[in-house]
Amino acid sequence: MTVIDSPPPAGARHLDKEALRRKYAEERAKRLRADGNDQYLQIRGRFSHYLDDPYTPMQPRLPKTDHVTFAFIGGGFAGLVTGARLVEAGVKDVRIIEKGGDFGGTWYWNRYPGAQCDTASMVYMPLLEETGHMPTEKYAHAPEILAQCQRIGKQYGLYDNALFHTQVEELRWDEGRRVWVVKTNRGDAFTAQFIGMGTGPLHVPKLPGIPGIESFRGHSFHTSRWDYAYTGGDPLGAPLDKLADKRVAIIGTGATSVQIVPHLAKTCGQLYVVQRTPSSVDVRANAPIDPEWFASIATPGWQLRWLENFTENQAGGIAEVDLVQDGWTDLSRRIRTKILQLPPDQMTPPNMLAAYEDSDFEKMEEIRARVNEIVSETETADKLKAWYRQLCKRPCFHDAYLQAFNNPNVQLLDTDGKGVERITETGIVVAGVEYPVDCIIYASGFEVGTEHQRRAGFDAVGRGGEKLSEHWADGMRTKHGIHVHGFPNAFLVQPTQGANLISNVPHNLTESGRTIAMMVAHALAGGHQEIEVTKAAEDAWVELLLSGPGLLIGSNECTPGYYNNEGQDRGPAARTYVGYPAGPVAYFRYLDKWRNAGTFDGLEFR
Ligand code: NDP
Repeated sequence: MTVIDSPPPAGARHLDKEALRRKYAEERAKRLRADGNDQYLQIRGRFSHYLDDPYTPMQPRLPKTDHVTFAFIGGGFAGLVTGARLVEAGVKDVRIIEKGGDFGGTWYWNRYPGAQCDTASMVYMPLLEETGHMPTEKYAHAPEILAQCQRIGKQYGLYDNALFHTQVEELRWDEGRRVWVVKTNRGDAFTAQFIGMGTGPLHVPKLPGIPGIESFRGHSFHTSRWDYAYTGGDPLGAPLDKLADKRVAIIGTGATSVQIVPHLAKTCGQLYVVQRTPSSVDVRANAPIDPEWFASIATPGWQLRWLENFTENQAGGIAEVDLVQDGWTDLSRRIRTKILQLPPDQMTPPNMLAAYEDSDFEKMEEIRARVNEIVSETETADKLKAWYRQLCKRPCFHDAYLQAFNNPNVQLLDTDGKGVERITETGIVVAGVEYPVDCIIYASGFEVGTEHQRRAGFDAVGRGGEKLSEHWADGMRTKHGIHVHGFPNAFLVQPTQGANLISNVPHNLTESGRTIAMMVAHALAGGHQEIEVTKAAEDAWVELLLSGPGLLIGSNECTPGYYNNEGQDRGPAARTYVGYPAGPVAYFRYLDKWRNAGTFDGLEFR
């Protein structure tokens, strides 16, 4: 019998690696489909009500036709941290443009029951030290994170000039006036000397393209627009009491669904959890933060120390202590330990990759064994096991998700990689069986692999009328993931081509925000009207990125998902979606040195 049929207990592992590789490949093959990203429906036309904002009524206002020093597109963490640093640097008129009704970005939209951060609050929540906020839990829940966004907005005066419920439709560099012209869906047509873009990777919800989806006559909504009026309860955790007599199907079992299911399980009359691919669900171990302990560690500079320590532990460094101690740092420690066990003369790249694979097999075996320990029904437990390398999909951490399947009102509808067959007027069809339901909740995720301009809602037009999509036709081109040649005074705030630290995205954003504020302050102090990266510097940066190891797990090994463009080849462009070759720790050190040198090598100030 192989390990696949019956994993040996922890500590007595003999892994049949070939059998595991075969199993992973089989499960992948079941899920590969020719339509890739096109399997999903873009939410528009008759589906557009799925995008309505259930949280804040839209306020009428007059269009803006003025000029600001800095306009930032996106009011999530990226806009807030950049805005805060700009205000600290003396820029008084920062205008944030946000499609939601308040600040918060993903934390504005995602108010579903159980929403909480998956990376420890101490490093995930931005500007804790500056705002003096102590997170209440190791993993804060969504209302607290949203309140932190609002706190930043208030403390730095970012509300005064913000435009909410507003989407940028046109962004164009005016060469004569040396300003950006910003036009929006609210009739605004104003100018900005500098522009920031922090539109986030996961903000456009998508629906699964299941045949018959439009015919359903019951209630339905997407997780990013939670309908508390229908379900009862609230984002603070009040029970979803209106579902007591309802049959509910939640479609999707990604990171969102894993957080929601325990709450639905508590109250729904009947809950169907519809699964195409199981998530890997590791221990969460949330706990309240003790104010006394917090006061003892929160000495000046504490958050940067914690950020650097997390990054060092998580992203390849060798730190003496692990302050955060969670699933992310555990994952990295295991890989590191395996690699360090190699004899010095065998420390070759193939051996290191093999050690990484071994550590991954062991971790996934533990995660599968955890399913057996928690889920009482063997058949259900087997279906909840993930058969792929851990980082092929977003790792999940939860202490109530698997337990929910022991509730008598919860049924797992596993589709064996195929997805829901059909939606009818009254229910969903899985493997030929129709399950009547009152409500369908789409936990089907967000657009990732679609064109950047479709997700952003605009295609920036730079010098000489060149569009950003044209500049990036063969892949992304930047310096530091921030500057683009031909797009003067424009700054991107996102991880790719910078640290690319996925386990703690806000760390990337705060570092970019700080850097941008320093460059803008330098330009304003020197009376410069333009900052632009030279072509040579952009080329050199891209060349440096391409000299790196690329992706450690090839997407042709992974089960499809948004991490790997649904298993489809993205062509040569994919090679550019990488980070600094020496890793995040080295990148942050490099960037700090670069910006503090004050010469901003590779940029021209005019
Ligand atoms: P995902 O894209 O991760 O999940 C979508 C789910 O829908 C998958 O399980 C997918 O299956 C399933 N699905 C798609 N089509 C069908 C179909 N036809 N039939 C049945 N199932 C289908 O979206 P999420 O919203 O869960 O998460 C997106 C990302 O948001 C996360 O990866 C994470 O980065 C972030 N997030 C972060 C959180 C945090 O930090 N606290 C919390 C929640 C989300 P399949 O896997 O087979 O494609």
